[in-house]
Amino acid sequence: MYRAAILLLALSRLPYANGFEPSGNTWEFGRAELYVGMTGNSPTGGSWRDALLRAMAAWSDGSAFEFVAIDAAIDPCLERNTSAFGDGRSAIDFTPHQCGTEYGENVLAVTLNTLICTDPACVNPAHITESDIVFNSSLDWDIYSGPLRFPEQDFERVALHELGHVLGLGHESTSFAIMQPSVSNLDRLQSDDFDGANFIYGGSVSFQSIYGFEVTLPAASVFSDPISAAQLSGELAPSDAQVGGRFIDVFQFTFTNNTRIDLRLNSGEINPKLYLVRMAATQSVIAGSEFEDDDSGIGPNSRITADIPAGTYWLGASSSNVAELGEYSIEMNANALASQLQLESFESIYGAMVQINPNPHIAGELGFSDFSFDNRFLDLYQFQVDASTNLQIDLTSNDFDASLMLVEIRENQLPGALVLQDDDGGVGFNSRINQLLNPGTYWIGVTSFGASESGDYDIEVSVLVP
Ligand SMILES: [Zn+2]
Repeated sequence: MYRAAILLLALSRLPYANGFEPSGNTWEFGRAELYVGMTGNSPTGGSWRDALLRAMAAWSDGSAFEFVAIDAAIDPCLERNTSAFGDGRSAIDFTPHQCGTEYGENVLAVTLNTLICTDPACVNPAHITESDIVFNSSLDWDIYSGPLRFPEQDFERVALHELGHVLGLGHESTSFAIMQPSVSNLDRLQSDDFDGANFIYGGSVSFQSIYGFEVTLPAASVFSDPISAAQLSGELAPSDAQVGGRFIDVFQFTFTNNTRIDLRLNSGEINPKLYLVRMAATQSVIAGSEFEDDDSGIGPNSRITADIPAGTYWLGASSSNVAELGEYSIEMNANALASQLQLESFESIYGAMVQINPNPHIAGELGFSDFSFDNRFLDLYQFQVDASTNLQIDLTSNDFDASLMLVEIRENQLPGALVLQDDDGGVGFNSRINQLLNPGTYWIGVTSFGASESGDYDIEVSVLVP
């Protein structure tokens, strides 16, 4: 639903790294067919059908979701009333009512989703099987870009918003987004909108860094297989971040093993320059793992081959000359090295070993070789905070009910101050801690809620940028 007036939502939220709001319901195959046979033109001459097709293409081109147009006219209200849930076909049109009920005050348009449960108790997210959009025909509609006019509503931006509901997004009230609850001067999809669609359907997602530029997390970004490969394409564009007058795109990859990496940045349009930097949990660069290359590839292309320690890396795609714009491709081949990651560790006063692990992504296992405390296994990781940072720590496991501790360490491992302990603050039985941390040394403790639980787990530490 899209309202003309400002809706005041009494919603207080933690500053999550991303703002988008998935509804939880999804199209099973990441695509929706829509009947787009709307006829007629707006008062200034634009075709409703063309504006709708542009809005569908904007979502399809920029996200992992795909809208497919069927060029026929169907009444969106067919078999939609209090006892029927649609005719199985998704359609869009202007209607004088909301398929049987009146439009609410200030309501511009409404999306009606038909859901089927995916389990008998209907506790898991449902699948969307039909989605109809009705536009309030009692209002003045036109097609235009830029600031809102009155009383004419812009059909195209409202279509963008409703199509977001079609694919499974809810309202977003903390970020600039077409999915904000009220129509605004925003007339096109924002990065938060694309991130929301990609979060649901497995495309890339971006997050804000402390350096002011966005970092893209590709759909496949964590590599733990013996042999892995990835290909990406992108474009240096005027809207990109700049370093020394050169545009740059930054991608994040994580390797859970020590890895021999072969990384190429190729372009027929720019003279590429490639960077690879290992990052700590607090988004600071870890010294000694910084690579850059200009021309080691074929022709002017860039290539980095190196043996790198397990960890999270930022890959920068840029140009060797200032102000170069154009498309590029990235090819990554990685072979896990047999050698174990040699992180320093020491025995704590509790008897449990502490691993000094600065990585934002840590993959581990609770098991019988671990220290046992109160019949629960315990793994400890030490990391450093150099400047005050708002961190979110997520502990997830499919094998056991994970319990997470964060401890500040003072005076050479004297018992530290327990900053926070969390059992089920994450999704399901997983754990999440959000905390502003002052400079210092901290331990992350991983244990289980129940006695003697064991299994694999993942820790993800993200910096929350205001
Ligand atoms: Zn809405």
